Amino acid sequence: MLRRTKILATLGPATDKPGVLEGLFDAGVDVVRMNFSHGSAEDHIARANEIRELGKKTGRRVGILADLQGPKIRIARFKDTKVFLNEGQDFALDINFDPLLGDNTQVGITYEPLALEVKPGSRLLLDDGRIVLDVVNVENMRVNCTVVVGGDLSNNKGINLLGGGLSAAALTEKDKEDIKTIAIMGCDYVAISFPRCAEDLNEARRLLEAAGCHAGIVSKVERAEAIVDPVMDEIILASDAVMVARGDLGVEIGDANLPAIQKKLIKRTRELNRVAITATQMMESMIENPIPTRAEVFDVANAIYDGTDVIMLSAETASGNHPIKAVEAMHRICIEAEKQPIVRVSDHRINIQFERDDEAIAMSAMYLANHTKIKGIVALTESGSTPLWMSRISSGIPIFAFSSVEETLGKVTLFRGVFPIYFKLEETQDHAEVNRSVVKELRKWNIAKDGDKFIITKGDLTGVKGGTNALKVVVVGQGLTP
Ligand code: PEP
Repeated sequence: MLRRTKILATLGPATDKPGVLEGLFDAGVDVVRMNFSHGSAEDHIARANEIRELGKKTGRRVGILADLQGPKIRIARFKDTKVFLNEGQDFALDINFDPLLGDNTQVGITYEPLALEVKPGSRLLLDDGRIVLDVVNVENMRVNCTVVVGGDLSNNKGINLLGGGLSAAALTEKDKEDIKTIAIMGCDYVAISFPRCAEDLNEARRLLEAAGCHAGIVSKVERAEAIVDPVMDEIILASDAVMVARGDLGVEIGDANLPAIQKKLIKRTRELNRVAITATQMMESMIENPIPTRAEVFDVANAIYDGTDVIMLSAETASGNHPIKAVEAMHRICIEAEKQPIVRVSDHRINIQFERDDEAIAMSAMYLANHTKIKGIVALTESGSTPLWMSRISSGIPIFAFSSVEETLGKVTLFRGVFPIYFKLEETQDHAEVNRSVVKELRKWNIAKDGDKFIITKGDLTGVKGGTNALKVVVVGQGLTP
């Protein structure tokens, strides 16, 4: 059985070890994530080249997602690397304090406006919420706090404001430089960290296009202000994919609010014809252990029941002890979860009038596939829109995106239930000829055998975006198909 949910694995030192990338390919990774918070431009370019090489060797198109660091607000450094903070003690964050000389009474910060954006009573969460500070007052850009939850605090840890509200722009100068590297690498997707609104994403798209890069935009939803109405819908519509970035989001809105928000975000993202990614700590214990906890198994399965397109691994693959086993574990959980009827039936957009013929064809193909005995759907696609519409409908039927457009093959690697296949059609308008070529290709990949029924969607003219206007049912080995 083909797995429909896509696995996105973060690269890092653990995947640089000999044989590990090959192992991830064998285990079925669909997309890799390059985390621009770590590593040099050269590291990222070398890794991207390796992925492309392996793709050629194995015939598997694995997508590449570049994740920009964004404006992570951080404390500076301590003179002794780390300090211990006791509950109830005073502790200050000070933009004017020496960034290398922090101690257990004060530390520098990297974000100038912090003192202007907090007030007495504001709650600051450091190191993903492990340390909690309440603001007492602000004196000359120095934020004086009381420690509410103490513990170890080390260099450069992140700062979040409970409830959100810090104004930092989503794209930093470093991100703008990294966009140039990403354009050279030819990434399929670029993730924007901490967007506040749709304009942050529009700006990223403009910068990417100016650099000659047509990567899809992934918005990482990790700020409290990104999930309020109408901002949430605006952010989704300005994105190609939306990531439920549970790490930072959980710090800003409180962990207990995450499950409901994950469900809402995934549902709305699919309704608006965008792709949903669920990220962070899905297999956290596998950083150390060779098997996941039962709770992690449930988390992966529940994200699939929520409708996520993609499940993401972070440190589990980037720096963990068992990167290949983590992908294998996700794969086997997906296969079982995807057998459940809840993820195979759909009433999505059942009462909607479609404005476009290609969209109506995509929906009709899914209705036909879900209500008759169909082995698979082949969408001949230029832009990837037809398989995207199709994959918003829950189904157990695989969708094969046949395209000669590299960019499109890369984009569909994130779509649930869609499998990219390079397919170059000779100039022809003869539909029977097209059907024959499609079936030949399906046989080549051992996807089709005599008697299997497939749906093919296509347009009159090859090479035209938005031209899908036909739906054909073919039976392999019968009629005009070989
Ligand atoms: C997150 O906060 O959940 C996330 C995915 O962001 P990052 O891993 O880049 O911190």
